[in-house]
Amino acid sequence: MAALAVGLIVRLVQLQVLRADVYREEARKVLLRPIRTLPCVRGRILDRAGNVPAEDLPCWDVCVPYGILAGAPDYLAVLAEQLKASEPGTPGRVGPADLEQLRSRISAMWPAIAQATGVGLDELAERREQIVQRVRRIKAVVRQKQGIDRRIAEERFSYPMVRGLSHGAMVEARIALSAFPWVEIAAGMKRRYAPEVCLAHVLGRLENVDPDDVSPQGLTDELRGVSGVERLAEERLHGRRGSVSEDIEGRETAPPVDPADGEDVRLTIITPLQKWIYQRLGSAIAEYPQCTGASAVVIDVASREVLAAVSFPGYDPNAGWATRRALLADRRMLPLRSRAFGEAYPPGSIVKPLVLAGALTDRTIAPETPIECRGRLFAEVVNAFRCTAAHGPMTARAAIAHSCNVYFFTVGEMVGVSRLRYWFDLAGFGRPAGTGLREEVAGRLPERTNKGDARNAAIGQGELAVTPLQAGNLMATIASGRFRPVTILRDDPRARPALPLGVAEADWAVVRGGLYAVVNEPGGTAYGHVVPPPEPWVLLGKTGSAEGWPRELDRVYTCEWPDGRREEFIATDAAELRRRLADRGPFTIVGRRTNRRWPPEGQEPETHGWFAGYLIDRDDFAHPGREPRRAVAFAVILEYAGHGGTVAGPVAGEIARMILNYWPEKE
Ligand SMILES: [Zn+2]
Repeated sequence: MAALAVGLIVRLVQLQVLRADVYREEARKVLLRPIRTLPCVRGRILDRAGNVPAEDLPCWDVCVPYGILAGAPDYLAVLAEQLKASEPGTPGRVGPADLEQLRSRISAMWPAIAQATGVGLDELAERREQIVQRVRRIKAVVRQKQGIDRRIAEERFSYPMVRGLSHGAMVEARIALSAFPWVEIAAGMKRRYAPEVCLAHVLGRLENVDPDDVSPQGLTDELRGVSGVERLAEERLHGRRGSVSEDIEGRETAPPVDPADGEDVRLTIITPLQKWIYQRLGSAIAEYPQCTGASAVVIDVASREVLAAVSFPGYDPNAGWATRRALLADRRMLPLRSRAFGEAYPPGSIVKPLVLAGALTDRTIAPETPIECRGRLFAEVVNAFRCTAAHGPMTARAAIAHSCNVYFFTVGEMVGVSRLRYWFDLAGFGRPAGTGLREEVAGRLPERTNKGDARNAAIGQGELAVTPLQAGNLMATIASGRFRPVTILRDDPRARPALPLGVAEADWAVVRGGLYAVVNEPGGTAYGHVVPPPEPWVLLGKTGSAEGWPRELDRVYTCEWPDGRREEFIATDAAELRRRLADRGPFTIVGRRTNRRWPPEGQEPETHGWFAGYLIDRDDFAHPGREPRRAVAFAVILEYAGHGGTVAGPVAGEIARMILNYWPEKE
């Protein structure tokens, strides 16, 4: 009985040893043969003329197997065995000393990669962490769904730690990294952007797939569009890479997958115009010490295609990780911000024509009803509801031409906030302008409804905020009488119906007459500051000097730990603070106040200078009832630069004349 039991135990032990051998053999075959991927080519981004500001070029990537990145014990064991077998001398069993030696070789690999490629150790560490996190998350999802802890394909990949080596750099890296035979230098694709700083915000960029995103699309080592058109058109641009999955003897372990290239997409942007505007904005802001940035947009009225969407400052679209960190830290100029569609400003007086169109349509006021301007709304209140001058009796057209605040305070109060909201909404405020870009912000409609808020909303102050793209589209809406969402893609398949605002032609004529007078008649707020375009073009527009709030550069946060300890830290936002204090345990933010602002404490901010308008063919201008055939709208803003007429007006006039060099396009 006892002998039998002993025999059984021996048998069981033998079985386990045997099976352990089988497992190790299997692990050796699979683990040491990473799944090979076949790169696909991401689609190109073309501009309106067919130039290629973004394309994939072949390159070389330095890849490290997942087992090394994660320090997986089973992987390290088979790798140590493999390395020992390849060394001269008698291969024995792998012991703790061999594993220790392998670990120190791996530690030496990171500085070697950094030195061979010029990529920093901190960047490599971040990249490695990202991949390990993501694979662990996917594994956890699989475990939850299938109830078993199994090896997933992601654990068999080698992941690019450094991408985009040229052929020469690849040869050097191969030599420098030859002491680390598990490092693979594989063929890959590199996104190359034309070095146009003016296009960076529009093009956007690619980033490694987010570690939190465990959807089956997007493999862990792939790049994906995270901003701009790269993200907007991700589905079309992406393509699908192929793979070959073999064991160490070269036997297929899964059917091969052929790669499929991505599609090209074409922008509506005219790059030379975009570039010219960028440079012009740059030279303009250099004249104003408080100015922190600028933006301009140009929109074809009939198609609502965006011909230019400029944000100043820009940056090199090829900027790497370290440069981006530095750009992110510039809280005053905010170079990474897509001002053209990602920043909302108080619009100031550029909304007056819309307010007037609404008030005339609602019969709240008649075009010829005069409102007396004595320089301020209330004789007894000196410092509120002021005008730029004592304009005397103002009728609708003159009130636009002179941008009379008292006229619009009065009209705003008569119309009321809820009806103003209705008109703002019809013109597309309070929601993205329609490109579909993730950076697009909605801006803000006024919420508070008392009389003072109505007066402020009617002159584009208070809660109301719009993007330059919304401001430009407002002018396209006024030019045609119809609202239509804009697009930045030449072959945008979405329906973008044009919706009439329901303003009578006679009322539009009053509004447009005012916009004509702004530029072309003595007394107009831009008259003399804007050089009109040559015949047959007519330029109409509206200036705006919008009171902005100072920009908060950073804050002092008061943090409290569970034991009651409190400390103060300076940070740009709570997320940055939490990142920095990640290793200090959980804490609560119990206080925050502005640390630094722009302009500095004690200095009042200058107004944002706006000009929004449109160019129209004189023949179209003379036939206002029909949809204009040749009209182009635009908007310009210079942050904290001062008065719209004197500051933005001259730039706007030059942009208008420059537009005519590129538009309308010759057939
Ligand atoms: Zn006035």
